[in-house]
Amino acid sequence: MTEPHDDLDAYALELDQAHIFHSWSAQAPAHAAAVSIKSGLGTRVWDYAGNEYLDFSSQHVNVNLGHQHPALLEAIRVQSQLLATISPPTANITRGEAAKRLAAIAPEGFNRVFFTNGGSDANENAMRMARLYTGRDKILSAYRSYHGNTGSSIVATGDPRRIPNEFARGHVHFFGPYLYRSEFWATTPEQESERALQHLRRVIEAEGAQTIAAVLLEPVPGTPGIMLPPPGYLAGVRELCDEQGILLIFDEVMCGFGRTGEWFAFDAFDARPDLVTFAKGVNSGYVPIGGVIIDDPIAAHFNDRVFPGGLTYSGHPLAAATVVASLDTIASEGVLEHVRDISENHLGPALHALAERHPSIGEVRGRGVFWALELVTDRATREPVPAATMGRIRAGLVERGLLPFVSENRIHVLPPCIVTPAEIAEAMEIYDAVLTLELG
Ligand code: PMP
Repeated sequence: MTEPHDDLDAYALELDQAHIFHSWSAQAPAHAAAVSIKSGLGTRVWDYAGNEYLDFSSQHVNVNLGHQHPALLEAIRVQSQLLATISPPTANITRGEAAKRLAAIAPEGFNRVFFTNGGSDANENAMRMARLYTGRDKILSAYRSYHGNTGSSIVATGDPRRIPNEFARGHVHFFGPYLYRSEFWATTPEQESERALQHLRRVIEAEGAQTIAAVLLEPVPGTPGIMLPPPGYLAGVRELCDEQGILLIFDEVMCGFGRTGEWFAFDAFDARPDLVTFAKGVNSGYVPIGGVIIDDPIAAHFNDRVFPGGLTYSGHPLAAATVVASLDTIASEGVLEHVRDISENHLGPALHALAERHPSIGEVRGRGVFWALELVTDRATREPVPAATMGRIRAGLVERGLLPFVSENRIHVLPPCIVTPAEIAEAMEIYDAVLTLELG
């Protein structure tokens, strides 16, 4: 193995290949990470060889406030000097303040928070709450969704990676709206919304409403392609749930905390959930944390009934401190306003301009700092650009200094919320060059 003092970058990659068992990956060197990352600041990161990259994936779509934000680092320092860990059933002001701030940005009547380690276990616990509260079993979730990679959350996930788990029963999938490749032969957003709702109504009827505990969905599905809900869709789902006593869980793990220019993505789409799950952008991922924000009637259901759930690190104080700092920073630095301005005046127009130059961009969709470019070989047939080409596009972007998020035939454009117009212009040149090279 290379010695660290000879070539740090090579050492980092060799260590990674020799000793890390990689997630979502085969293990042979051919499948290994192509980039090392040593440090970061704001929208940029550096590898061990000193190469600089624009982080247009926000790592795992979580570094909403950018790398090394001083307020978050200071919160970790202060809390670590006071107390570095506590057990869950302990009253602690840092943890309490984190929950209080989450309640304050949630809709009226959401006052309690159940903390977890991340997004998957947030969804696990939300589903468990819904099942215990309703006394029903089934969970309906969308094809083209990602809800996590633990026992039930991976089965609720609606992508082909979901693995069978005979112990996770009662998961049923339905099609959510996706106008560009509509299952409903719809040609307008209104049609897509109406027909997707009709389809969901049929699924509920066919399954038996009295057996369904909850509908779980991402207000804006992230991993499967950033499909903004068409007009009336989320409100329509709410209505269907209300008619049948079904709870509505919004998974805000990826789309929350500024990503769409709102505290929660659902704030933009006029619908109220019963449970909200969160993680990632809640503290920019500096220390692992997630959780469930709970509507009062559901919380009250457990006043005298034990909720059988809990984790050693629920509401870990270092993580809670970063939640407080992160939510305070989003408010005090006007981050939501900044994201709206960036979206309307810089990122949105720049991506549409890119699409004008590149017929290979079949659709540009998104809002905030949450956009997808869907790449096609032909705009008329909408034939997806093949995987091999997408692989070269990914490599080309990295080579030119941009960390991308590439999934299937899409490039997701996901800079931190604090991205500047100059950084966007820089990124557009890189996307432009690579698309020209690979797709003409
Ligand atoms: N829900 C959504 C919408 C997500 O995007 C993710 C992670 N990509 C999760 C849940 C799972 O979160 P985690 O990886 O923190 O468990």
